[in-house]
Amino acid sequence: MIPAETVDQIMNAAVIEEVVGDYVELKKSGSALRGLSPFTNEKTPSFYVLPAKGIFKCFSSQKGGSLVTFLMEIEKVSYPEALRMLAKRYNIEIVEKERTPEEIAAATAKESLGNVVAWAQKWFTDQMRNTDAGKAIGRSYFVERGFRDDVLDAFLIGYSPDTWDALATAGQEAGYSAEKLVEAGLCKQREDGSLWDFFKGRVMFPIRDVTGRVIGFGGRTLSTEKKVAKYFNSPESPLYNKSKVLYGMHLAKPEIVKEERCFLVEGYTDVMAMHQAGVRNVVASSGTALTPGQIQLIRRFTKNVTVIFDGDAAGIRASLRGIDLLLAEGMAVKVVLLPDGDDPDTYAKKVGSDALNKAIHDDAQDFLEFKARLLADEAGSDPLKRADMVRSVVTSIAAIPDAIQRSVYLQTSASQLGLSEDVLGAEVAKTLHAAAMAEQKRSVQQAARGPQPQGPPPEYDPGMPPPEAMAEQVVVDPRTLVEDDLIRALLEYATDTVSVTLEADTDGEEAEVLEVPFAELVIHRLEEEGIQMRQPMNQTLVQRFSAELDHERILTPEQLTQDQDQDVQQKVAGAMIQQHVLSPNWSERHKIYPVVEKDQLTDLLEGSLRRLHLWDLKKASAEVSAQLQGADLPVDTERDLLAQKVEIDAQIRQTLAHFGTVILP
Ligand code: ATP
Ligand code: MN
Repeated sequence: MIPAETVDQIMNAAVIEEVVGDYVELKKSGSALRGLSPFTNEKTPSFYVLPAKGIFKCFSSQKGGSLVTFLMEIEKVSYPEALRMLAKRYNIEIVEKERTPEEIAAATAKESLGNVVAWAQKWFTDQMRNTDAGKAIGRSYFVERGFRDDVLDAFLIGYSPDTWDALATAGQEAGYSAEKLVEAGLCKQREDGSLWDFFKGRVMFPIRDVTGRVIGFGGRTLSTEKKVAKYFNSPESPLYNKSKVLYGMHLAKPEIVKEERCFLVEGYTDVMAMHQAGVRNVVASSGTALTPGQIQLIRRFTKNVTVIFDGDAAGIRASLRGIDLLLAEGMAVKVVLLPDGDDPDTYAKKVGSDALNKAIHDDAQDFLEFKARLLADEAGSDPLKRADMVRSVVTSIAAIPDAIQRSVYLQTSASQLGLSEDVLGAEVAKTLHAAAMAEQKRSVQQAARGPQPQGPPPEYDPGMPPPEAMAEQVVVDPRTLVEDDLIRALLEYATDTVSVTLEADTDGEEAEVLEVPFAELVIHRLEEEGIQMRQPMNQTLVQRFSAELDHERILTPEQLTQDQDQDVQQKVAGAMIQQHVLSPNWSERHKIYPVVEKDQLTDLLEGSLRRLHLWDLKKASAEVSAQLQGADLPVDTERDLLAQKVEIDAQIRQTLAHFGTVILP
């Protein structure tokens, strides 16, 4: 348990834009910050942070709430773990109450894996720096390869001693169970239960997530024996998801943003060598094909990627597909081809920093030109191979989302392939058409599954095209619209006072004008009229306000953004962002509010109540009518139903009349 005072201390110290900025490139947008959602693949920013309020809202995933919620969502951690991450970052000591065995057991798998992996990294690094074997074998290997100490330090490089159980023993002494050491992939277990070190005798490359936390390892053998796998990697775990990690991203991130470009290489040592040569905006996919998750990670920081290939043709062909994925994400892709036999590491060391910089900047070619040329060379005059090649280039061009860019590529590729632009254009059009049909089919299926979450109305932000989430028109039933409107007003004006007139009653008490907070009036009137919210979230919010009123307190939206229920946080953060950021005349409205809006607030309330009432009555009336249609009704039943219908219809007329006078003058 983290004590409440510590939670407050953490929340006061934490700067939301700083922490969120680790995951999203934020730009100023009015009183808010705005960027591309880290939760979806969106291409138009609909992710907002309101620093003054300490909240975020993502309109493409509908997530929103406090900084802690953000961490819980993005790191998939528990509430206490999110707090602990913040505490660590802001140097706040958490003196926790002694945890019970149950609480320890309940700590998430991810949390405890994170602890053992973090410990192991420190241990490996210590072994390399401070033990004889570490210095003589591990460090001297890197020195031999020309790596400087500051680079080894920056990448937290370490050494795993060449004995069977040095780590297993040290780990258990440090309090980590055999089970955890195995789960983290650090040790393996023999039949008799004893442990042996999986990475024994290897130099260790810690793999870190975007925030710099160590989540796994790559271990390179020092043996030149061909039968030994050159690299071992930690297994996938709740902590380490290979397809979402890029080696070096934590160190590269600020440089990628500054340089507006990301270099992509294959190996750990390539990243380190380029870093050492002064090129820090570089990451590696660690020998696997690029995944959509990895592209999404890059996409948060830049849309310009340069892929550096070492000259091995088979390797290049295998990478081409991954690069089509980059194009499909709207990335601008360039390619650098290093001379045969060199990878970025050997090349950098051979030619030095200046020549490396020149090669990766000046000699970079456009990817599609590169691909067309490569395939054309390979196919030669073999007609089948040439057909394959054209199809492959067509696939790449069709993947580009921007039409203008596509037509430019069409021209250059056609001339490179020696084809007419018309023929190539027709092929691309065919591919696009097929993709559009597939997309249409998908969206029809999606529409059949029901309404999607709604973003803010696009007209709120005329400067930018609407985020994808807003593009789909959604049919919402009118009762929900009325409910939502009322709840929005409740959230926005909860603590503002409105005047209500209590009419003179028969006991001779005089008419009285009361000033009450708007929230109090809303809750009171809903109860008085016996009107229920239908939407579960609206119900919850009404309950929250109602519960606080029982203690004679008015809830504020700020309190609600820290609510224990994450759905509540999301809803409220959304409402606040809309009112503070998206509506351009918000401040104006607020200035005139005391004069005009007070009357409008009570009108809005009464109008909503009537309409909700009416809606329920009409529904009841329709139900009775439906029952009356039933065949062979007993006479009594029919008479009862008719009476009910007459009664309901009378109420509808009354309500309508009231509506007419009050709402529609
Ligand atoms: P070095 O320069 O130390 O030989 P490298 O980083 O250049 O290493 P490559 O052989 O080019 O390594 O491989 C690229 C990447 O592929 C490596 O960094 C590693 O992430 C991964 N890799 C290579 N060999 C293996 C293997 N046997 N098992 C798992 N991953 C591997
Ligand atoms: Mn290499």
